[in-house]
Amino acid sequence: MIPPEFDYAAPDSLDAALQALADGGEDAKPLAGGHSLLPLMRLRLAAPTLLVDLRRVPGLRALERENGGWRIGALSRHADLQRRAELGVLAETTALIADQQVRNRGTIGGSLAHGDPASDLPAVLLATEGTVTVRGSAGTREIAAADLFEDYMTTAIAPGEILTEVRVPALDGWGHAYEKFTRRAEDWAMVAVCALVSRADDGSCADVRVALTNMGSTPLRATAVEEALRGRPLDDETIARAAEQAAEGTAPPGDLNASPDYKRHLARVLTRRALRRAAEG
Ligand SMILES: Cc1cc2nc3c(=O)[nH]c(=O)nc-3n(C[C@H](O)[C@H](O)[C@H](O)COP(=O)(O)OP(=O)(O)OC[C@H]3O[C@@H](n4cnc5c(N)ncnc54)[C@H](O)[C@@H]3O)c2cc1C
Repeated sequence: MIPPEFDYAAPDSLDAALQALADGGEDAKPLAGGHSLLPLMRLRLAAPTLLVDLRRVPGLRALERENGGWRIGALSRHADLQRRAELGVLAETTALIADQQVRNRGTIGGSLAHGDPASDLPAVLLATEGTVTVRGSAGTREIAAADLFEDYMTTAIAPGEILTEVRVPALDGWGHAYEKFTRRAEDWAMVAVCALVSRADDGSCADVRVALTNMGSTPLRATAVEEALRGRPLDDETIARAAEQAAEGTAPPGDLNASPDYKRHLARVLTRRALRRAAEG
């Protein structure tokens, strides 16, 4: 389908982009890789009157190690991150997004700002306890992952604000795994699980984070699993028992691919697999 008519601007500075969004009002939207927004416009599920293309804004594609973490420009494409093994679970997960064509265009900022609970990177931001920085006419603010995802495709980023960078703790020494279940290769996740495990000197679980993709209207932390594992041995039996609680407190919607019950089953199985792999380091 052909999208409704819209205006287009490609400013060459962040200030100019913010001004263009302010001038365009509530129906103006930033455009990054366009791989989520343009399909919605073609389906006429979104009808922005102005697209403010961020591609010419300098400095939004940085990737730097800083203060024990990573500072990643919002316009960094999935392809920029997927081969950087030092990014840990972020690199592992990015490599599992769709196909190379999508990864060559889609951006980390676009993925997080879009707030689709079936997207892979929101759960990674939640598990790593990362933050995003947004700029608006009132200044700059930082939003913690736990406060970013408010509802289905709804984030704490206000109209007129631009997500400029993503900060993710490096979590050196933690094991990681992202287990994604798809009906066909390169599909969206039916359910996916991000697990991060830190081992104590005696081999037990010093700390653990588990986040779920597509198990509700936002990505979710599986806190019951984390509590069941923290301080305990990282053997198969303890992990399996903890993973049984993965679906606790979730209300996944059924869809064409899976019923809510099947998604809950997947969450338990994928959590067990992800924890086992993350525990191996
Ligand atoms: C065929 C296909 C398969 C896909 N499969 C997967 C998958 O398996 N897993 C997955 O995670 N994703 C998948 N995606 C989505 C892909 O990762 C998108 O690229 C991503 O979700 C959105 O990034 P984008 O840069 O394309 O954003 P855009 O489409 O440009 O923008 C998306 C939304 O975010 C807003 N936005 C973008 N950048 C900013 C910013 N810097 N500040 C404020 N708001 C901003 C836009 O206004 C828009 O509302 C798939 C996409 C396609 C087309």
